[in-house]
Amino acid sequence: MKTPTSLVRRTAWPTSTSAPVVTPLQPSVVYASPDPDALDAQYDDASGFTYAREGHPNAEVLAAKIDMLEGAQGGFITGSGMSAISAMFLGLLKAGDHVVGGDQLYGRTLRMMTQDLPRLGITTSLADPTDAAAIVAAIRPETRLVLVEVISNPTIRLADMEGIIAVCREKGVLLAVDNTFTTPRMYQPLTAGADIVIHSVTKLLAGHSDATLGYIAARDPDLTSAMMAANVTWGLTPSPFDCWLAERGLHSFDLRFDRAEDNARKLAQALSDMPGIARVIYPGSASHLDHNRAQALFGARAGNMLSFELTGGREAANAFTRSASQIAFAPTLGDVGTTLSHPASSSHRALTPDARTAMGISEGFFRVSVGIEDADMLIAEIDIAAQAAARA
Ligand SMILES: *Cc1c(COP(=O)(O)O)cnc(C)c1O
Repeated sequence: MKTPTSLVRRTAWPTSTSAPVVTPLQPSVVYASPDPDALDAQYDDASGFTYAREGHPNAEVLAAKIDMLEGAQGGFITGSGMSAISAMFLGLLKAGDHVVGGDQLYGRTLRMMTQDLPRLGITTSLADPTDAAAIVAAIRPETRLVLVEVISNPTIRLADMEGIIAVCREKGVLLAVDNTFTTPRMYQPLTAGADIVIHSVTKLLAGHSDATLGYIAARDPDLTSAMMAANVTWGLTPSPFDCWLAERGLHSFDLRFDRAEDNARKLAQALSDMPGIARVIYPGSASHLDHNRAQALFGARAGNMLSFELTGGREAANAFTRSASQIAFAPTLGDVGTTLSHPASSSHRALTPDARTAMGISEGFFRVSVGIEDADMLIAEIDIAAQAAARA
């Protein structure tokens, strides 16, 4: 029997007067045009879609929602948080330029700054973002951009955002803010005066640890165009399915964030009374080193991220994670469930013990991304783990 060749012709989508309430998922890689004139016209005014690497509806829908949260315009979605940072560097910098970064940036960002950009002839310096004077001291005549995170990982210190914004304005240097930990619910970099805002959408915005995506927006549309061109050319494009998942996750972002923050506040309080806990680091606690800055930057908000230190060392840390087996011991953040990370064995394992000690990261140091589970249950689990660690 002859195979009917009509199978490869796409059937027209069934019409319906009633429309779906859910954003459709559009995985099409390519879009067909009526004729060359129409295609030409579409390229001329950069409207619609032609090829998914250049843009697709699910990315556009998601970007528009994050734009709304960030008070941004024309932001776009990238294949990961690191892609967003790559699109920024590749789109805005050239050999001979210099970049200043916070000295406790996300691990891969630090690697990009210290190893990859120098290979491309772009020099970099790291400086302490809790002190705007340290940032200004690192700025050179050829400095084009400063990149900071508002909350440092994993020591949860706060950048001197007001000082850094003023310094970058004065020096005519672009300021990019990775707003992943803070999210627009706590802090809006563009509104505060930064030039560029970046997200690992993978984390709190998507919120379910099932999509890897990034977002970036600039105040100046020319910068956005340059970064978007890099995103398309270097192939940093996101998957439609991930964008679809992230949009669904975003529907509950504000509710999740508020619940997680509320849980974090309760957990920080409870931790300080548990056995074998040397210190708790949470910006919402009056004892936090940057508590006044937290209030100035975030008002009553303090986020879902906290760190704590056990009085014991690695043995205590092992006992803690084994006992807290219901809490994922996994190097991520922003999931609906609480996750625990241990910098000495993961993000900061390449450092010498002395270098870690200088940063305040001991073998008993944990970072917690607090989730939205029942607070009493979470506190009870952590309490049992703290007791196990204290016995170890
Ligand atoms: C996770 C993370 C990134 C990288 O994002 P990916 O989506 O994993 O590529 C960048 N910055 C911060 C602060 C992060 O937490």
